[in-house]
Amino acid sequence: MSYTTTTESLISFDNTEIAFAHKDDRSLKRAYRLFKMISQPWLSSTGASLSQFALKAGLPVKGIIKNTLYAQFCGGESVEKSLPTINELAAANVLTVLDYGVEAKDSEADFDRTLAEMEHEIQFAKDNDHVLCISCKLTGLARFALLEKLHAGKPLTPQEEAEWERTQERVNEISAFAHKHDVSLYIDAEETWIQKPIDDIVTRMMEKYNQEKAIIFNTVQLYRHDRLSYLKDAFAEAEKGDYFYGIKLVRGAYMEKERERARRLGYEDPINPTKVATDRDFNEAITFCIDHIDRISVCVATHNEESNLLFARLIEERGIDKQHPHAFSCQLLGMSDHITFNLANAGYRVGKYIPYGPVKDVVPYLSRRAKENTSVGGQMSRELQLLKREMHRRNLI
Ligand SMILES: Cc1cc2nc3c(=O)[nH]c(=O)nc-3n(C[C@H](O)[C@H](O)[C@H](O)COP(=O)(O)OP(=O)(O)OC[C@H]3O[C@@H](n4cnc5c(N)ncnc54)[C@H](O)[C@@H]3O)c2cc1C
Repeated sequence: MSYTTTTESLISFDNTEIAFAHKDDRSLKRAYRLFKMISQPWLSSTGASLSQFALKAGLPVKGIIKNTLYAQFCGGESVEKSLPTINELAAANVLTVLDYGVEAKDSEADFDRTLAEMEHEIQFAKDNDHVLCISCKLTGLARFALLEKLHAGKPLTPQEEAEWERTQERVNEISAFAHKHDVSLYIDAEETWIQKPIDDIVTRMMEKYNQEKAIIFNTVQLYRHDRLSYLKDAFAEAEKGDYFYGIKLVRGAYMEKERERARRLGYEDPINPTKVATDRDFNEAITFCIDHIDRISVCVATHNEESNLLFARLIEERGIDKQHPHAFSCQLLGMSDHITFNLANAGYRVGKYIPYGPVKDVVPYLSRRAKENTSVGGQMSRELQLLKREMHRRNLI
């Protein structure tokens, strides 16, 4: 299947000159070599676990990772060190969503450190017009097993009650801080078996802090067959409660894990039966949000071309300002530049997630990006095809 998609009149994602204008020849070649390397399935699967092992064993691989995968997919080891990337994106009218890339932790001390880091991100964002908001994973602030117990409605021990109390305080503290500094907070969607307490607490934060505008955003995963109706019901609640509704739309990142667990434990698969069904729900969710743009602030978080074209077309057709503060499309740093930069060039409000953090902490994130860009059935990944086209256009190969 070809990666190229165009709409008749509106916008084209084919233009690799615009897509890669922010890369000089050297960094284009570096990206091309990297995607060529990770397209080898054996290398991206063994390479990821080897690097994790080598880092733990203190072997000198940090430099290699830093100059390859890390340079492509991460901003820097801290928010300050991510500034050159933020500025590079800003020069092409692409906004930043800061994403502290350290994976879920388990101790109270870790949760407090994550909270402090997020407050630091907010302080940084309030002084930088190019940073739109920050992203947050509840499992960075709370223990997974605790969320799982809450989701299942199991009684908590007095110790767990106190732990949950502290978690809620942390979430309230970061939400209040975001509100005070007028920086939005996107809260990720995670596994279905911990999602209910996340939805509940995020809804409470929206009620409290989204009175004047959407500061707190929840996320819905449209690969779940129950989420389109959840979105509509949650919005109806927001209308009733007279607060703004902030939502990030994603397809969902845990499909295999979800299906395997449902099979193993013998409950109904929460995932849509087909990709077509997920795409239909996702696109209907975009339409629903754009149709209620006065009260919904939406982040369309996808690398899917059709969904981004739909987003652009609806804005155009409904006569909405392309820079409307409630309409935003977002991709991950280092991926789908043909979507981000062509949308930005056409005047839409777009951004990139910039994951940042110490190299050793973001290796799991990097290995997921590597696996995602591996060649499937001998077919070149979409990123590699695009980079190759641009290399040809610049006569570099
Ligand atoms: C900015 C950003 C933020 C994100 N935040 C989150 C988050 O908070 N939580 C989260 O879970 N994910 C998140 N993701 C990841 C996202 O959920 C997707 O996994 C990823 O973006 C790929 O989907 P797509 O829409 O980009 O592209 P596509 O390639 O069009 O879609 C692939 C997705 O379709 C779905 N799918 C594939 N095959 C099937 C099938 N047979 N049946 C049903 N569905 C299928 C899966 O969700 C798969 O990931 C985020 C992604 C981005 C870009």
